[in-house]
Amino acid sequence: MAKMTKLDDIVSLCKRRGFIFQSSEIYGGLASCYDYGPLGVELKNNVKKAWWKSAVQMRDDVVGLDCSILMHPLVWKSSGHADKFADLIAECKKCNVRTRVDHLQDHAEEHTEHINIDVAMATEHDLSKKVCPNCGKVGQFTEPMPFKLMFETQMGANVDDSMTLYLRPETAQGIFANFRNVLDTTRVKIPFGIAQIGKSFRNEVTTKAFIFRTREFEQAEIEFFCEPGTDEKWFEHWKQARFNWYLELGVKKENLRFREHESDELAHYAKACVDVEYKFPLGSGDWQELEGIANRTDYDLRQHQRGIRTLNSWFENKGDLSKIDLKDESEDYEKGPLSYFDDEQKKRYIPYVIEPSAGVDRSALAFLVDAYDEEEVRGEKRNLLRFNPALAPLKVAVFPLVRKDGLPDIAMKISNDLKKHFTCFYDEKGAVGRRYRRQDEAGTPFCVTVDGQTKQDNTVTVRDRDSMEQIRVSTDQLLSHLRQKLEP
Ligand code: ATP
Repeated sequence: MAKMTKLDDIVSLCKRRGFIFQSSEIYGGLASCYDYGPLGVELKNNVKKAWWKSAVQMRDDVVGLDCSILMHPLVWKSSGHADKFADLIAECKKCNVRTRVDHLQDHAEEHTEHINIDVAMATEHDLSKKVCPNCGKVGQFTEPMPFKLMFETQMGANVDDSMTLYLRPETAQGIFANFRNVLDTTRVKIPFGIAQIGKSFRNEVTTKAFIFRTREFEQAEIEFFCEPGTDEKWFEHWKQARFNWYLELGVKKENLRFREHESDELAHYAKACVDVEYKFPLGSGDWQELEGIANRTDYDLRQHQRGIRTLNSWFENKGDLSKIDLKDESEDYEKGPLSYFDDEQKKRYIPYVIEPSAGVDRSALAFLVDAYDEEEVRGEKRNLLRFNPALAPLKVAVFPLVRKDGLPDIAMKISNDLKKHFTCFYDEKGAVGRRYRRQDEAGTPFCVTVDGQTKQDNTVTVRDRDSMEQIRVSTDQLLSHLRQKLEP
């Protein structure tokens, strides 16, 4: 029977092999912040590359963008984040630890899906039987209260003109704010999408679970603009396209599923929402959101159209967002600056938006978990990461069998040649068996070994990570052989 992967195994392998470290570890660590080490940064870059390739490069109807993290405060007023991006929390009167109300259980277990704040506020919460996950006291909570999730910061050196800004809690709003710019400067026509990868920040109440939920993380988001009425078709399209992306990168089908949101879970503006869930080994509940795909209707563009009309009020109220009232000037919505004129149909409308929103770190964790394997080989445990070649941090490792007879020079030359094409690692230290094991653990698909025979017939051995089979390949054919295997 296949061994169950535990999160602890992944965390320990990530630390041991330099995938992921605790942030500021030499100072005792900073909770819920992580650093990607030499192998981790390659993995994460590969996840981003694979996403960009499928979301932008391979499509004619999506263009890319890279927005700043700091944006005008009104962006967050218009999007609703300034007033509503919060979790409902309760504080334990005994130990003063705050917990998300939707995380409180009748027993001290955890579940991690965010509940919409409007829904949470409108729900009656009986906390009398709930257990504090910190001290175990039952029913000793304050009244639930909202806790804002956006980080604030100050911009400007002078007291008079400094202003409070937010670190963006999602990348999507930068896309909406640039909708007009992209329309005016490119040849895109509806239906089209804008894609972005970038850092987001949320002052999450509950973190834990390694890189599953952190306070600084990266998102990969597409806002796909379409004509109202075609939105359901595009929603289905993106649902399938995003699910298949994980499968094509090797995630096992049995670990992936859709979860449709119930109507009482949906934000008031969303017409539909589905999560792609992965079976993360997080203890209770296992199935957790990997990516959300939402039909956001025309809500965001309409809101920003309202928002830009409140600029005067923003100055008059000295940037106090709480005093700004988003005007509902519905009579000329369709003609506003964020509307779209369809040349062929000669009609103007505010586009609907389908949003596939993925987490880069969460995807990286899913790929790690899914690739992790342990097996017994000749009485010894072999740990390996069966990464899809596109995701593997190192594609090839090159070894001389021994450190003599001129073998290192030949191997070094092969490695330098391959480096022009793939990430390639040269290693000559220790027994070759141990070198293979190290590469198995790093998820390197192929190891190339130069031995005595190489000097006679110009062949090397190529070892396959998964099957451990070795074949001899002529050095002239090595690049094309590896290319065919790594870039099928
Ligand atoms: P959750 O309910 O799990 O907090 P969410 O519904 O708030 O997620 P979205 O706002 O839809 O998440 O964000 C889109 C994606 O961004 C998520 O599916 C997830 O992959 C990623 N993400 C969101 N919050 C975090 C976080 N704190 N740490 C890591 N990734 C995150």
